Amino acid sequence: EKHVSVRDLRKTYSTGFTAVDGISFDIERGETFALLGPNGAGKSTTIEILEGYRDRSGGEATVLGVDPQHGGLDWKARLGIVLQSTGESGNVSVREQLSHFASFYPNPRDVDEVIAAVGLTEKAKSRIKALSGGQRRRVDVALGVIGRPELLFLDEPTTGFDPEARHEFWDLIRELKREGTTILLTTHYLDEAAQLGDRAGVIAGGKLIDIGAIGEIGGRD
Ligand code: ADP
Ligand code: ADP
Repeated sequence: EKHVSVRDLRKTYSTGFTAVDGISFDIERGETFALLGPNGAGKSTTIEILEGYRDRSGGEATVLGVDPQHGGLDWKARLGIVLQSTGESGNVSVREQLSHFASFYPNPRDVDEVIAAVGLTEKAKSRIKALSGGQRRRVDVALGVIGRPELLFLDEPTTGFDPEARHEFWDLIRELKREGTTILLTTHYLDEAAQLGDRAGVIAGGKLIDIGAIGEIGGRD
């Protein structure tokens, strides 16, 4: 069963710049797919189209059986979305913010378990705006998984993390994979794609220049 299907996806911004230039890939249920590429390659544009945040200019996209341009609230509730830039700088505590989000979902995870999983137990009562950038990023991830999503979108999740925080984050993602969550991850780190991805697509200049199992990509000449 395909959770994501993309065919000849295109996005030309109103500036006239084509950021995504005809890419195609599929993600099966339970699979982790890494979209790997340098800054400016078109990763965020692609993932934002699939999240339903941007309209595409051409091609086809299906996410959990729905065209993301027409996804309703029932569809959104099945997704977990961690955007590239954090919007989390609020005056409320980590636990309050997570409890608030959890109330939107039919079958949320336990708030304190999620806080522990992202390594924020000591900070559960701290206001989000008082946290470091890396800690706020963990709040973003916690908010993305609190609703027990079937499909999790992670846009550059570990940018700005120190090595220890990255390894802890990877462990959390492996746990979500074991639970059967389908994951689409964008990253510019080859090691992150290799650690987490079952398959990866290499994107540059808005085109997929390689796609395959981790270990197959990049090694050919
Ligand atoms: P669009 O309406 O083209 O789908 P947005 O509404 O997201 O895109 O962006 C509105 C405008 O903001 C763009 O047309 C562009 O002028 C500017 N803009 C935003 N982000 C960028 C960027 N990363 N690079 C260049 N221009 C940008
Ligand atoms: P990545 O996530 O791989 O860094 P993006 O999808 O953010 O790549 O950006 C791809 C290209 O599209 C970049 O050249 C960027 O400047 C441009 N871009 C992104 N958003 C906009 C926008 N709203 N308007 C115009 N150009 C944009």
